[in-house]
Amino acid sequence: GTLSVASILAETARRRPDHAALHFAGTTTTYRELWDQTRAYAGALRARGIGRGDRVAMIVPNVPDFPRVYYAALALGAVVVPVHLLFKAEEIEYVLRDSGADVLVVAAPLLADAAAAAGRADVPVLTVLAPPAGAGGPELPRLEDEAAATAPIVRHEPVAPTAAATILYTSGTTGSPKGAVGSHLALVEQVHCSLVDAFDLRSDDVVFGGLPLFHAFGQVCVLNTAFRVGASVVLLPRFEPDDALALMVGHGVTVFAAVPTMYVGIIEAARRGGARPALRYAVSGGAALPSAVLEAFSETFGAQVHEGYGLTETAPIVSTNPQSEPIRHGTVGKPIWGVDVAVADAEVEGRIALLEEPGALGEVVVRGHNLMKGYLGRSDAAAEVVVDGWFRTGDLGTLDEEGVLRIVDRKKDLIIRNGYNVYPSEVEAVLARHPQVAMAAVFGLPHETHGQEVHAAVVARDGSEVDAGELVGYMQEHVAAHKYPRVVHVADSLPLGPSGKVLKRELVQQYGTG
Ligand code: ATP
Repeated sequence: GTLSVASILAETARRRPDHAALHFAGTTTTYRELWDQTRAYAGALRARGIGRGDRVAMIVPNVPDFPRVYYAALALGAVVVPVHLLFKAEEIEYVLRDSGADVLVVAAPLLADAAAAAGRADVPVLTVLAPPAGAGGPELPRLEDEAAATAPIVRHEPVAPTAAATILYTSGTTGSPKGAVGSHLALVEQVHCSLVDAFDLRSDDVVFGGLPLFHAFGQVCVLNTAFRVGASVVLLPRFEPDDALALMVGHGVTVFAAVPTMYVGIIEAARRGGARPALRYAVSGGAALPSAVLEAFSETFGAQVHEGYGLTETAPIVSTNPQSEPIRHGTVGKPIWGVDVAVADAEVEGRIALLEEPGALGEVVVRGHNLMKGYLGRSDAAAEVVVDGWFRTGDLGTLDEEGVLRIVDRKKDLIIRNGYNVYPSEVEAVLARHPQVAMAAVFGLPHETHGQEVHAAVVARDGSEVDAGELVGYMQEHVAAHKYPRVVHVADSLPLGPSGKVLKRELVQQYGTG
């Protein structure tokens, strides 16, 4: 039973009880305190009948209550369903019904949509955090009060390694969101493989906790990994670059983990002046990190950036550039231990046709201990993506002779102009080199004669302006004729998803109808 994700916190609390687990809003929580609070929350949930296999949905931002609720549910052998913080009532209701939630724990400031959804789905609600001042509405039971009135659990429940630990919903760009079920084995193995092979995270490290914890990247690579070694995490409920930088300096952050849009923000903030933290290293994932951004970060902070690749369905890490080897720029490194990666013919449906030739371009497929158990209640959808034991990622990429993986782009983001393939991320990387460009997203819009036309939406760097015509000319000089964006849209910001990724489908809508 020691493989439980809950043992990550329980065992570290035993070994380093007085070390800081969390820094948040001027308060430090030690491992002993955090485990005690977690056991208390678990006691309250148990008193409500929550036990092995039950589903605990949660809508909690990056505050200390996130890990308390998360590990409390896991310690009972229950399954955690962290919900996107930006979901509205209808989306929350969908997740509650689809996951068969037995209880919903929600941060009081986010109650409006959550309470409506829980009411319709008939799921009991418990709140954490104080409601915003002046908030009316019904008084709902508070988890903390119930914890104070019940006995804490003493130790975590043993679970089968393959038992479900989390259900994480994919953003559902195709059809309704699907709940990817992750096992205790997958999550614990992720932590061990990234620690043992890829990174030398140490107990005296202070890890930046600005990635949303409801997403696999933050949950696994920040929370579980830091807690496994007994490092400290600085929690940020919202990523605002200047505040984030100040907090990093204030708490002496040594490890930065972020998605590329956060990299862009933090570089700009550092360039505005002020102190910089002494980082040991940084990790990036979730989307392609343009090499101009990687270089600017290394120069500004004097730390290497290790880019990795993963998906919600793979718990999430598939591959990474490890610390023990020189960084292979423009690649996402090698598969982590126990994870197999291959490239398959993207056109073949229903079976896997592997392309064994080094350098062959195809769909990236993955198998290993990190693979989800399936999509909850959707064996049809799972059967489409898991073929002969291989998970089809929907990403196009190549593997070289040494087994180094390069992600070219998402299959669905590929632009075909006049029959020529245009990979947006390649064009974005060139745009990111332009001195006036802070952020860029390339996407295709339908076009009468070319099939699709290449468009770019760009955000200017601080204090500079982008001239759309000049930028088109610049791109024409730097990339092939079929690839350069014919149309450049200058924007104040790009639409970002809850995990900080650019939402291309929103750009397509926004500029496609304009
Ligand atoms: P959806 O659920 O609609 O598929 P999502 O972005 O919410 O989208 P995630 O599981 O969070 O789903 O993201 C996984 C995807 O992120 C990968 O399939 C890949 O396209 C992209 N990705 C992750 N890391 C990298 C990377 N280093 N380089 C390029 N793309 C990456």
